[in-house]
Amino acid sequence: MKLKISKTLISKEEIEDKVSEIANSINNDYKNKELIIIGILKGAFIVISDLAKKLNIDVTFDFMSIKSYEGTSSSGQIKIDKDLDTDITGKHILIVEDILDTGLTLSHLKNLLESRNPESIEMLCIFVKKDVAKNPVHIKYKGFEIGPEFVVGYGLDYNGKFRELPYLAVLSEA
Ligand code: 5GP
Repeated sequence: MKLKISKTLISKEEIEDKVSEIANSINNDYKNKELIIIGILKGAFIVISDLAKKLNIDVTFDFMSIKSYEGTSSSGQIKIDKDLDTDITGKHILIVEDILDTGLTLSHLKNLLESRNPESIEMLCIFVKKDVAKNPVHIKYKGFEIGPEFVVGYGLDYNGKFRELPYLAVLSEA
């Protein structure tokens, strides 16, 4: 099945405004603090680079690559493909993820990183699928609430493609 972009869900301008708004909140909330922003690869690379340019606080960046398995086991697991280079013990950390769908990935990741005893841990998701989360997890910085449809663009892919689009779009059959 061949898929193509069928409509723009959220425009480039709307995303830019929202990222500026979130950056202002982060600048206020972490004033006089040292922050480590943790980007979840690959999807978060675009939002992180846009956000980074608008920050005026003491901040460093690190990245993780993970896979989440829903499987049959009730606890669920995540597999770390690339771990952090930084020791986060006693540090303020902000996890940045592209999209929250079931919430499984972020709730497992939060548990894992909490076990490393950071001073604080918060999360940012640029897109949140409302009414979908099975594993509710508190997201301090939310970009846009969207419906359950599969979306691409602004870091999000379909088979590795469409990440480069500066807007969020829905796919349909070509
Ligand atoms: P969760 O663990 O919250 O169910 O899933 C989060 C991950 O699933 C995201 O990081 C993303 O990789 C993927 N995902 C969930 N919904 C979508 C979607 O609509 N489009 C794309 N491209 N990826 C999605």
